[in-house]
Formats: sequence, structure tokens, C-alpha cells
Amino acid sequence: MSEEWVGQMQDQVDSLEKLEKYINVTDEEKRAIEDMDTRWGVTPYFASLMDKDDPNCPIRMQVIPSLKERINEFGMDNYLVWKENRATEEVRPDSIARQYHDRIAFTVTETCGIYCRHCFRKELVVDQDLQLHMDVAEGLDWIAEHTEIRDVLVTGGDPLLLSDEKLEYLVTKLREIPHVEMIRIGSRLPIVLPHRITEGLKKAIGGFHKVPVWINTQCNHPKEITEKTEKAIYELLSCGINVGNQAVLLKGINDDVDTFRELHQKLLRTRIRPYYVFYCEPAPGIDHFRTTVEKGAELIRDALRGHTTGLAQPMYVLATNIGKIPLMPDYNIVDKNEKEYTLRNHLGETTTIPNMPE
Ligand SMILES: *Cc1c(COP(=O)(O)O)cnc(C)c1O
Ligand code: SF4
Repeated sequence: MSEEWVGQMQDQVDSLEKLEKYINVTDEEKRAIEDMDTRWGVTPYFASLMDKDDPNCPIRMQVIPSLKERINEFGMDNYLVWKENRATEEVRPDSIARQYHDRIAFTVTETCGIYCRHCFRKELVVDQDLQLHMDVAEGLDWIAEHTEIRDVLVTGGDPLLLSDEKLEYLVTKLREIPHVEMIRIGSRLPIVLPHRITEGLKKAIGGFHKVPVWINTQCNHPKEITEKTEKAIYELLSCGINVGNQAVLLKGINDDVDTFRELHQKLLRTRIRPYYVFYCEPAPGIDHFRTTVEKGAELIRDALRGHTTGLAQPMYVLATNIGKIPLMPDYNIVDKNEKEYTLRNHLGETTTIPNMPE
């Protein structure tokens, strides 16, 4: 018997006809779908969360191709080669992206549950302009030879689209490498296809082990969380898998105070720990999703810090070729002299603490 999640992938909504079963497609959306040569698609489950009539629905904007993707005024060409340091001296398999000494990103597939229009890996997973050779066995050998690697981020595409057997093989092989201390899996499936969290998956990658597994998912708007999500996250946690979120700051989708706060509160209520909010990266063709750089820090200041639970606070980061650079709002230190610091809180009130000489 085929599992429900497999059926969802086979029935992926990836044509105008299929999309019309869910929403009233606008002329502009229609034109983009017909004219643009781009891979797009969404699971029937996630499509069912779309607003039937509002083209500005946050789910529609993340899923349906837009003619705006043809504009590239501010994006960088060959973005991934720059971002993933593919042009450096070190010889690495295509599946390994490296920015740090002790951890790497390991790409194991190029298929996704939905093809996010804002994807910074668009050249690889959506437009397929960048041809890379993804060989899991070769990547595992490289990791085994590099004893400094203690943390492996399994990424894609979406790694949870691999079968239970393949995932079990991958996690088991990684756990056999003595220097690997933890495994992270980046997957949008807990959000776009919660049906994927099955007993089989729990058995394949869950359970007690001294090398823990973390899943970092991507949820960008409170509307993406349903009762099905809540149940799936509970299932992951119940078998020892930790769950975090990496949101992308998206113009017109989550860049206002109310949505931003609601998103983070709802994530926490769903037992997902907000980890990062990413600045929407300067990849080609996604200018229309990008805010100012400062916007994320402003939102943390105005919507989160002091306004809601500390556990709901992500770190705002700019992902670059030299690593992730945190950018936090710097309104807190109002004044500093030899004697004291003057500090400001989220309400604009100030207080002082003594300055400690070195
Ligand atoms: C994001 C990323 C990491 C992990 O960074 P953390 O800050 O530890 O989450 C590691 N390697 C690459 C190439 C990355 O892009
Ligand atoms: S799931 Fe991730 S890799 Fe796939 S299209 Fe979305 S952002 Fe890109």
C-alpha cells in the first residue's frame, strides 16, 4: 500500500488546470505560468491552504510563478557559486558546501515538496541552470575523511523526500563516523507535507542515540500552520527529534509587525523553536521579495523583543559567502561613559548599570 505522502507528491499541483481546482487563477498568474520556463509546484495539501480569491495570499505568493521573477536589478549572477564557495581552492564533492571549519551543508537531493518562488537556491532547484553532481556516497566519504566536521546539515532540495530506507541509511552512516556529533536536516515538509511524518520515518531517523537529529523547517507565515502541522511536530518531538524554524523575511508576506509576531508565537505554540530569520538573499529574480537589510532587526525590536516570550525570538541573519552575519537591533545602549551604561527597553524606558573597568 502506498503511503499518503507519496500520493501527495504524485498529485503535486504543477499545472494551470490542477491549480484551477483550488483557486480562481488571475490573468497575471496565468500568464506567468504559461510564459515562464520554470519548475513550479505545490503539494495538494499546501495548495488547499490558499485563499481562493486573493492573489496576495501569502501561500499563493510563495508558490505561484510571477512575471516579476524576470526582473533582476539587484540580484547577483551565479549566486550559488559565490554563496557556497564553489570557486575556492579546496577540492570538495559538489554535494558539500562549506563556510565553516567544523560544519558543512550536505546536499542529498534536488527535489522539493513545493518550489518556493523566493528560493535562494533557485539556480539549482527551480531553474536548474546550475548542474551539480550529487553523490551521497562520495559526500559521506568526504565527511569521514575530514575529522574536523562535527555537525552535518543535510539539505537539498528536501531531504525528507528520500524514502525511509535511504534516510535510515544516511543517518546510520553519518552516526558511524566517529567525529560526527550531530545531524541537522533542513526540510520544509513538516510545513508543506506533514503527512511525511510517519511511523516509518520516526523509526528510520528517530529514537535515542548519542548523535542527535535536529530538523529545521521553514515556515514563513502563520497561515502555514494547521492542526496537521501540530500533530506532525509532536510526533517528531516524541521520538527525540528536535524541531526549529528558519523563516525567510519576505516583503508583503511577513514583513509587518502583526504577522511577524503572530508567526513566532504560533511557531512556539506548535512546539517549533524559532531559530533564524533570514534576510531574503540577493539571488537572481527575487528582487520583489526583498526588504531593506535593516527590516528584520526592526521587526525583532518592534514585534518580538520584550513584546512576547523570549523563546519565540529568532536570530536575524544575513547569509553570505563568509557565513551568517547576525544583525540585531542596536537601540539598547543609549549612552556609555566611564561610570555607567544607560540602557533602553522595548517601551523606551531607560535605566543604568555600572560600567566595569577591564
Ligand atoms: C547555514 C550554514 C551552516 C550552518 O550554520 P549555523 O549557524 O550553524 O546554523 C553551515 N554551513 C553552511 C554552508 C551553511 O550555509
Ligand atoms: S523547499 Fe527549500 S530548497 Fe526547496 S524550493 Fe523551497 S526554499 Fe528552495
